[in-house]
Amino acid sequence: MYEFAVVGMGIAGLSTAIRLREYGYNVVLIGDEKSASASCAGIITLQLEDVKDILLVKESIKIINNLIRDYSIDEAGVTCRGFISIEDSIEAGESAELLKKAEVVFKQFDAKDASQNWPWLKISEDEIVTYTMDDLSVEADQFIKFLIKVAREKSVDVEKDWVKEIVLGEKHKLLLQQIGEVEADVVILCLGACTRDFLSKNGILIPVIVLRAPAYRFKINEEIIAFSDEVYESYWRPGVNRTIVGGGYHAEIASDSSLFFQKPPKRFRNDTEKLLRLRLNGSIEFIEEWSGPISITPDLDPILDNLPGYENAFFLDGLRGYGLMRGIALGYLLADIASGRKDLDSLEEYRLSRFSSLF
Ligand SMILES: Cc1cc2nc3c(=O)[nH]c(=O)nc-3n(C[C@H](O)[C@H](O)[C@H](O)COP(=O)(O)OP(=O)(O)OC[C@H]3O[C@@H](n4cnc5c(N)ncnc54)[C@H](O)[C@@H]3O)c2cc1C
Repeated sequence: MYEFAVVGMGIAGLSTAIRLREYGYNVVLIGDEKSASASCAGIITLQLEDVKDILLVKESIKIINNLIRDYSIDEAGVTCRGFISIEDSIEAGESAELLKKAEVVFKQFDAKDASQNWPWLKISEDEIVTYTMDDLSVEADQFIKFLIKVAREKSVDVEKDWVKEIVLGEKHKLLLQQIGEVEADVVILCLGACTRDFLSKNGILIPVIVLRAPAYRFKINEEIIAFSDEVYESYWRPGVNRTIVGGGYHAEIASDSSLFFQKPPKRFRNDTEKLLRLRLNGSIEFIEEWSGPISITPDLDPILDNLPGYENAFFLDGLRGYGLMRGIALGYLLADIASGRKDLDSLEEYRLSRFSSLF
């Protein structure tokens, strides 16, 4: 019998469980280690297109810095700090405005100065490079394993299992594949791309589409900083052993969960390698490729709400391609809401009711 059962061992579930435990609650975290979070590219950047998202990432970085304080950078899977984005002058002007609004310190460089700072980068005369310094890059699978370890060290009960069904009530009963049943006063679903189907079995419809996106690892000779190329559309960060991880902005519809982690099509890899060669001086050697799911709402914002009719059951989904970076702050926010420290009504922009006209 627990006060809180958090289902889902991706970034959303882990951060929610860790925060609830920090508040002193009796928490069980149930899930499978295979997740979008552990399969993602691992970029956590302040250079986003929406002030609300930038503020979430600012908060996430603060939380991560606090969580990794007592560990080595390698243990946490952190591979780089700082981020640059390459844009045309109009986009660079817009980015500067957004960063100023979010009170993020940044610096912009013309092509000549950027080439001196980052000689491995191919850059054209009319392009501008924006640098922010607090951003993080991680080897995602290692970072998620690290957070599981942190959760355990904080005395979250971690159960690697699958929830077949939840009997919702004043107290909830979770029926698990392996260990039988768990009861909890409050249940929190952080099922990522599985949320839509799980909720629809309980008669709750949410407007998300699920895409499958690929990521790639190449071996390179240079030591780089994480970057996004907003002109040709690709993003990259340094990985372990002189590798680089990232991809283009490719994606395909993934209608059911058996397709979420399927190998990406060959044409995406060819295209991605071309995009990388447009930006990187030096040799590039393909190492590996993989895919993961991304769930997206119509307005691109996440959904964080209680299950209709239940004040003691919550869910979070729709983190889209920015879920690793936004998910930590959102998980902490969800912990505040589920424990009554914050009011759901103060979060209208994330509630399911904003889509009521669609149903
Ligand atoms: C290729 C790729 C690259 C990406 N790159 C980035 C990036 O660089 N930066 C960034 O911020 N975001 C990135 N993303 C997006 C990011 O990965 C997601 O937005 C984020 O991981 C979603 O987190 P989540 O916790 O909601 O879901 P997930 O990480 O998928 O976690 C859901 C968890 O729920 C579990 N689960 C589901 N159903 C059940 C059940 N019935 N019982 C028990 N457990 C269950 C799953 O096994 C999983 O552990 C990328 C995504 C992909 C696919």
